Amino acid sequence: MKPFKNAETQAIRLQHERSKNNEHSVPIYLTSSYVFEDAEDMRSQFAEEKEGHVYSRYANPNVEELINKLAALEGAESGWATATGMAAVFSFFGAMLSSGDHIVSSRSVFGSTHKLFTEIFPKWNIETTYVDFDDYEGFADAVKVNTKIIYVETPSNPALDIIDLEKLGEIAKAKNLILAVDNCFATPYLQQPLKFGAHVSIHSATKYIDGQGRTLGGAILASEEIISKVKAFARHSGPAISPFNAWTLSKSLETLHVRMDRHCDNALEIAKRLQQHDAVDSVKYPFLPSHPHFEIAKKQMKSGGGIVTFQLKSGLNGGRKFLDALEMFSLTANLGDVRSIATHPASTTHSKLTPEQRADVGISDGLVRLSIGLEHVDDIWEDLEGALNVVVSAGAVEGALEKP
Ligand SMILES: *Cc1c(COP(=O)(O)O)cnc(C)c1O
Repeated sequence: MKPFKNAETQAIRLQHERSKNNEHSVPIYLTSSYVFEDAEDMRSQFAEEKEGHVYSRYANPNVEELINKLAALEGAESGWATATGMAAVFSFFGAMLSSGDHIVSSRSVFGSTHKLFTEIFPKWNIETTYVDFDDYEGFADAVKVNTKIIYVETPSNPALDIIDLEKLGEIAKAKNLILAVDNCFATPYLQQPLKFGAHVSIHSATKYIDGQGRTLGGAILASEEIISKVKAFARHSGPAISPFNAWTLSKSLETLHVRMDRHCDNALEIAKRLQQHDAVDSVKYPFLPSHPHFEIAKKQMKSGGGIVTFQLKSGLNGGRKFLDALEMFSLTANLGDVRSIATHPASTTHSKLTPEQRADVGISDGLVRLSIGLEHVDDIWEDLEGALNVVVSAGAVEGALEKP
């Protein structure tokens, strides 16, 4: 079938070939291995002279369908899917780097990625230099003779910092480096890093790609050249995604554009209403004109995404009070779900850091992260407004809430 012009159609119609049963929805190929026609077929497939399926750690029809759709959405030549987002991050670096290599990364990266950079890769003599997300000269200056990869997250989790991909693409090109982007918050519907000079787009499919909080998954989208290295590494180190999860994620992609449009509409409206509330010091959302990098966000993203963060005037205690006062929002570690979710990084995911370390990655004590779901926007607001009012009245009564 010829490729369709629009990504939305690709995500729906790029289906695995029908079986002889002529099913409409693709079946789940829950098989660990595949049979060969004869001895010669077996020999040639093992020798990689002939295309085919040998073993599901290497290839599976559901996984291929997921990869083909994601590659089409990202405008990438090829891809690889993994059991989790972190398996994708790890497989990418594992495939591309050797002992003695060096990474330049933006400072605010996902917590487990930070652990890889600071605790796991150093065991293999792979070092990382962090640069502030908006210090473009700093990125160029941090490059050493052994640097192989520039790595960034944009928008970043949870600070929602926006990095100019075109600028970094130019730096990567001038220095002959690979630019890899964690594209989890934007999804391939809102942002295609490869169009701006990045070489690799990495996803935690656990978030918006599933979108319904059911499965874990990850993917790496890049050129054939890079993916052939990822393949050689991942086939033997084994981060394969299960066919069931790949099927779930491939089906989810059929509705990604519709879900993301609503996530973005709801999030923008909530960000605007939060700005008006007395308990709120400041609101951050990529498509609010008050975001410090609104213009960059507009240039490289179709819309602002589903995550909104805001700063309570009343710091750590205010954050905890706010979470306790919410009635509908789920308090859970995931994001990108149809259900709205609230987290308070300073008292949870980042509680082990000192306030200074938190400030370095853009997390103040009163920061609340909202993953705005697909409930009616008025119901979302009613829950938020109620909890904010509780924070205001608690502050007035106790008069003892910390100031940030
Ligand atoms: C969740 C997340 C990951 C890790 O993905 P898992 O599927 O949980 O392994 C990586 N990067 C970002 C930005 C994330 O939000």
